[in-house]
Amino acid sequence: MKRKQASILFKLTCYFVLFAIVVLLLLWLFQVVLFEGFYKSIKIQKIQAATANIASHMEDQDIEPLILEEGKNNEACIRVVDGAYREFYSVEYSSDCIIHKLQNLEIYQYYLKAKDNRGMVVEIIDHDLYFVGESYWGHSVELEGVRDSTGGQSILCVQLVETSGGGELLVMLNSTITPVSTTVEAIRIQLTIVTVVMVVLSCLLAFLLSRSVAKPIVSINEAAKQLAKSNYAVQFDASGYKEVQELSDTLGFAAAELSKVEKLRQELIANISHDLRTPLTMIKGYGEVMRDIPGENTPENIQIIVDEAGRLGDLVTDLLDLSKLQSGTQSLNLTTFNLTADIKSIMKRYGKLTEQDGYDIQFSYAEEVQVLADEIKISQVVYNLINNAINYVGEDKQVLVKQVVDGDKVRIEVCDHGCGIAKEDLPYIWDRYYKVDKTHKRSVIGTGLGLSIAKSVLLMHQAQFGVESEKGKGSTFWFELYLDQ
Ligand code: ADP
Repeated sequence: MKRKQASILFKLTCYFVLFAIVVLLLLWLFQVVLFEGFYKSIKIQKIQAATANIASHMEDQDIEPLILEEGKNNEACIRVVDGAYREFYSVEYSSDCIIHKLQNLEIYQYYLKAKDNRGMVVEIIDHDLYFVGESYWGHSVELEGVRDSTGGQSILCVQLVETSGGGELLVMLNSTITPVSTTVEAIRIQLTIVTVVMVVLSCLLAFLLSRSVAKPIVSINEAAKQLAKSNYAVQFDASGYKEVQELSDTLGFAAAELSKVEKLRQELIANISHDLRTPLTMIKGYGEVMRDIPGENTPENIQIIVDEAGRLGDLVTDLLDLSKLQSGTQSLNLTTFNLTADIKSIMKRYGKLTEQDGYDIQFSYAEEVQVLADEIKISQVVYNLINNAINYVGEDKQVLVKQVVDGDKVRIEVCDHGCGIAKEDLPYIWDRYYKVDKTHKRSVIGTGLGLSIAKSVLLMHQAQFGVESEKGKGSTFWFELYLDQ
């Protein structure tokens, strides 16, 4: 059973909405879930770099501007103290500052930590817990925990610097990490709006796109339906994009071909009925005359009836042959035979024509040749070509059949000096029922199928064949077979 397919609109909308959802999920993941982590690590890196920068320039004469600048750039409080807790430099940027509230004992503890940790300490401190107390380096005092209600976090970076004079300085930087939750909240609201807008936009875009994709296809479909109803004049002019243009061109071409086939079919029916009617009328007419008029019952009249019946038989045989050949059910009966002798015996059949109607039918050959082919079918090709030459013969009534041996091939040519064939008709004469001159009076022999039978036979033999012809000058039909040596 044919599964019902979803429309382009439905499919495109699904894909677009899916795409929008994936993009938004990624945004949510990075902006909301991972934002805090990113933000913190960047802030820590910056404060650490600033601390290291100040520490490395500690002994410069003009350090103060640098400290001020780093403080400003990083919104950080800075404090530099020596072993006796003397303050060398101090920058205070925020009221939440921790380092300026540190008691000596705590500073001393950071000093120890820095010593243990290759001169640098980095800490994230929750604002609701820091210590106050009184201490001096080398003395420890009990610490008191004090709670704060701000709920934020601070980053504290401490670096120990050994001066050239042998002293030690402690560089401390402290910066608050802006409460991320508020930022995240803002982003979340923004993202919610963006999500809604994106989904609506993607639906709209899908709708517009699918309409532009589907419109030409729908119009092609309508035209194709017309074609199915045998309206061959239908126009496939859908455009919009390359593929549709190509489909439209292909269907247009198919319609043109179908209309040709249809025309041929109609011509065939006309031809065949005409071809059948002529001999039938003759047979009927002569039969009636012979029945009604006793004196007309002559052998000549009976011969006419026999000849006409023969023509009918030929027509039916040709039709059957062609349909068998073209259906591919026939196989070749390959034998080695004398082609020259065969052509000679065919020529004999035209003896009467030569005698009675003054035709000059000649066969020229240099030697007798043997070929491996289907004797009956090749004889039929020769017969058909000679028949055509006679049908379209020139005023000289001359038909020349030539046998030319060329290397391992033999070429048979049938020439006449008749009306010839126009260049534009040449490619089509091998088609079934194709006739250059539609009004041409049908001659004694010929069913309109001769050349297409010849073509089918020669194609089965994989033989080369063709025609050279010039309008008004005559035609030369030829084919080539391999010699059987
Ligand atoms: P037909 O029975 O009409 O001759 P064929 O298939 O044998 O059918 O030939 C197809 C068409 O090719 C003919 O209608 C004719 O127009 C053209 N043709 C064939 N042979 C010749 C020829 N020797 N000279 C001129 N036209 C020819």
